[in-house]
Amino acid sequence: MSEVDKRESGVAAAGDWTYASAPESRDIVRIAERYGHFVGGRWLEATETYETISPRDEEPLAAVGQASAAEVESAVAAARAAFADGWSSLPGSERAKYLFRIARILQERSREFAVLESLNGGKPIKESRDVDLPLAAAHFFYYAGWADKLEYAFPNRTPRPIGVAGQIIPWNFPLLMLAWKVAPALACGNTVVLKPAETTPLTALLFCDVLRQAELPDGVVNIVTGDGRTGAALVESDGVDKIAFTGSTEVGKAIQRQLAGTGKKLTLELGGKAANIVFDDAALDQAVEGIVNGIYFNQGHVCCAGSRLFVQESIYEPLVAKLKRRLTTLRVGDPLDKNTDVGAINSAMQLDKIRELVASGEEEGAEIYQPPCVLPEKGYWFAPTVFTNVAQSYRIAQEEIFGPVLSVLTFRTPDEAVEKANNTPYGLSAGVWTEKGSRILWMAQRLRAGVVWANTFNRFDPSSPFGGYKESGFGREGGRHGLEPYLRFDE
Ligand code: NAP
Ligand code: MG
Repeated sequence: MSEVDKRESGVAAAGDWTYASAPESRDIVRIAERYGHFVGGRWLEATETYETISPRDEEPLAAVGQASAAEVESAVAAARAAFADGWSSLPGSERAKYLFRIARILQERSREFAVLESLNGGKPIKESRDVDLPLAAAHFFYYAGWADKLEYAFPNRTPRPIGVAGQIIPWNFPLLMLAWKVAPALACGNTVVLKPAETTPLTALLFCDVLRQAELPDGVVNIVTGDGRTGAALVESDGVDKIAFTGSTEVGKAIQRQLAGTGKKLTLELGGKAANIVFDDAALDQAVEGIVNGIYFNQGHVCCAGSRLFVQESIYEPLVAKLKRRLTTLRVGDPLDKNTDVGAINSAMQLDKIRELVASGEEEGAEIYQPPCVLPEKGYWFAPTVFTNVAQSYRIAQEEIFGPVLSVLTFRTPDEAVEKANNTPYGLSAGVWTEKGSRILWMAQRLRAGVVWANTFNRFDPSSPFGGYKESGFGREGGRHGLEPYLRFDE
């Protein structure tokens, strides 16, 4: 019996994984019928609105403002005034108090935020509850700690705030991306105008209530909602000193072109097509868990998702068998059910994109596997999917799908793994699974990716910088590195 056969035997067959439903109550959340824009600490009536829905059943949730260029300008003016009126000159220790307060309030109200996040965005409640909310609070705690230590973070330099930061965020981690952007900006003494994604504005709007509870001075954080036009108006505004953008590479490139020569600072966190690489000495069951977490976490709506799985040839068959068996145990369904592993696709548009790329994979000759699962009739759903028999040139191996779709490829040697893993315009993250510490370090030095995880995947911590190589963008968020884009230095 070979080593692999030995490891393969004795694996329990997938049994009956039907669970009774365990719905989280939504009574804790009160959603208004209509929202305006949060400008200068007050709600500004929106001149135009659109409807935000829940992707789990297309239920309309609220009317939300579609900010015009003029409304964006009033938010920018409020942020400028707050910057000049004292926020930028407040001692760091005073700014820290507000950040600590925000962090604590987010913890206190975490259940409310988690339910709203799952309702508006479609992610499983266990993820909003156990990942998004704790991490969002942790970011505020972390940057609160830096606010009065900026001189120590940058010795022999004189760090100063930049001014007004325009921040544009996507729909995959709505509150968490807000925290990633707002916390360092405030810690460094800047003021903010933030635009959440069109499909997921509600937790950002609820966050305005946290700001009021924390008694943050008016105008330090302003929130305007709307689609790409609102984002474009924010980028164009003369009153903005820095743009921080997370989203698609396409829009990121357009923003970079728009800002060229203006002197505005820019950080871009864009797409990814991460390689998750499994060597034949890895703990296979552990690797399978990491692969599942890597691509099915948040329906694969993750810029650093492990969407390309590279398996060493000698373990290809047992690993793929284990992976397929594991997929049959994933529960797909209501995001508000505490047992749900894979929730709803965020929008009809994203569902179309996933379907189109999956169809291209089948047409190009890849072999598709989807576990048997019953998808709800209403709403936007896509079954967890694995493609085998994938060539490097296929679109499903090249393009970001941003859905629960994994492409499996193989390699023989570490050199080949590096070569193939780096064969992408992106470079946000990568994963390596092996028992050998030396090989982890060898691989990490060669992989062109901002984050390399070893024997784990999709781990986040506020103290750890995150960001891309190549078309995945530039600038870092998180850690001490995450302060720098929000500071200027008089040298
Ligand atoms: P996107 O259009 O780039 O959205 C990101 C943010 O930018 C949203 O708030 C968006 O508003 C805004 N925006 C759109 N056009 C803009 C413009 N011209 N100027 C300024 N801001 C603008 O991304 P998406 O349409 O949501 O998703 C498209 C693809 O991007 C996905 O399929 C995925 O591949 C990738 N993506 C990557 C990430 C990531 O974390 N790296 C996140 C989300 C999506 P709207 O919400 O109105 O579009
Ligand atoms: Mg868009």
